[in-house]
Amino acid sequence: MTIKIHVLHTGLITVDKSIPAHEAAINPLDFTGIFRSHKNKITLPVSSYLIEHPKGLVLIDTGWNDLVRTSQRKELGLQVKINQAYLPAGWSVRDQIESLGLKTSDIDYVMLSHLHSDHASGLPLVADAKNFLTSEEEWQTANRDKLRYITKMCQGIDMNTFHIEDTGHGPFGRSFDLFNDGSIEFLFTPGHSLGLAATIIRGESGQEVLLAADTGYSAKNINKLYTPGIVKNRGNAIQSVGWIREKSRESQVIELLPNHDPEVIPRERKISCVNA
Ligand SMILES: [Zn+2]
Repeated sequence: MTIKIHVLHTGLITVDKSIPAHEAAINPLDFTGIFRSHKNKITLPVSSYLIEHPKGLVLIDTGWNDLVRTSQRKELGLQVKINQAYLPAGWSVRDQIESLGLKTSDIDYVMLSHLHSDHASGLPLVADAKNFLTSEEEWQTANRDKLRYITKMCQGIDMNTFHIEDTGHGPFGRSFDLFNDGSIEFLFTPGHSLGLAATIIRGESGQEVLLAADTGYSAKNINKLYTPGIVKNRGNAIQSVGWIREKSRESQVIELLPNHDPEVIPRERKISCVNA
């Protein structure tokens, strides 16, 4: 048996160049785009991951809702000043799941690495999935921080939380094991947001695929230890990106997949499975 990972690009996001790399910015407010010209804009993919696992169908993140095609302002509010959202035809998470011959109601777990709009906007497109989960820390901060989070994206979704346990894994020694067999593990990697979780997908041979979420915006940035322009805690973000870089260099890690990496090509990865 194998675990199949479908890497999906579920939208594009245009941001100031300092958003993917805080350390490369000249002025600390560059990420807002204010006083910055268009030549400082960059367009990046917004990824989601559909995992066909023997114990269930798992979706990590959801990309943009198709509402962004008609009104970015309605979907994003004031955030349109910082990021613009694009969703080419056929790119929505629902379109891509259906083109794989699956239904959104087949999804056992929709997992959110964090609840920023480019990861949570597509939630209504998969509203008939069976379970929705994000970390306790992320859920609490999303309900408090009205500037960084758009709560309506979770409306009508029965969001549950997972408890990140002291496992000794990850930059803060804390993680959550979805199936209790080590095959899909969410690692507490805060900084960009207070409850951000990266993911390790682990096959029976010990091979691992590392989904870096937004700890770093690309493999190149992670190698340079560049943290995102938008962070809630810079020190934690540095600790998280440092751990991801070292982890990605371990020999069993066959692929590092940051969420917004322009060099990642959407395609299917297969690794042989634990306990299958
Ligand atoms: Zn993001």
